[in-house]
Amino acid sequence: MEAAVACSCVHEISQSFAHLREKEADLELSEIYQTSLMSALIDGVYDGSVTIAELLEHGDFGLGTFNDLDGELVAFDSEVHQLREDGSARVAAMDQKTPFAVMTHFRPTISGELMTALDKLEVQDIIDKLVGSPNLFCAFRIDGRFERVETRTVPRQTKPYRPMLQAIERQPVFKFEKTAGTLIGFRCPPYVQGINVAGFHVHYITDDRRGGGHVLDYRLLEGKLEIAKISKLRIDLPQTESFQQATLHSEEMSKAIEAAEG
Ligand code: ZN
Repeated sequence: MEAAVACSCVHEISQSFAHLREKEADLELSEIYQTSLMSALIDGVYDGSVTIAELLEHGDFGLGTFNDLDGELVAFDSEVHQLREDGSARVAAMDQKTPFAVMTHFRPTISGELMTALDKLEVQDIIDKLVGSPNLFCAFRIDGRFERVETRTVPRQTKPYRPMLQAIERQPVFKFEKTAGTLIGFRCPPYVQGINVAGFHVHYITDDRRGGGHVLDYRLLEGKLEIAKISKLRIDLPQTESFQQATLHSEEMSKAIEAAEG
């Protein structure tokens, strides 16, 4: 099935990618680990008990947020960064905690250079083609130069917590023009909406490690794309009272996730 949005070059670019030998040992370790559920975050469960140190036991690569919804989490090469609503960024401390994060041991099996300027939807189309099936998960990383990247950062909350759609009503939006940086993302199948985010969920950090956030849109000038196909999902449900009391399934949930994470 051809995707609706495609530049004429998307097919050619996909063809140029190398499919590395998918070693069984690597695939065995390729698993998504997540703490809590996206639906819990949407419902306002902003306190978790999993530390950054514990997250790193489950992967060297990932994204998420911090307790109190205190900014965006982006992790790669075993380094975890915190991008906050005031535009500041720092390396996260090992004892900080997260209410929702998605991690993997990133072992790309598909990689190639993107030498043409591409919009977000074109990059997503290339990833879809390379992964081949909408029913698998994938993690991907793009190190490149960007004409622009638009991000948002969740604002820190205080108790009593409000549901996420209210919490992000005044979320700061950042526009990065002509920056070099790294996109860290996951693509999840449609059937996990609520458990995770169906479709693409991407965070960005600039090369100087001073800016970034949850990605709304971008235009890539050139870069290297690496993809790891993943067919295992491990979910660690919080033991907290707030999680146990949360409303995790409702008619509005899917719409709310699209509004918050789309
Ligand atoms: Zn995000």
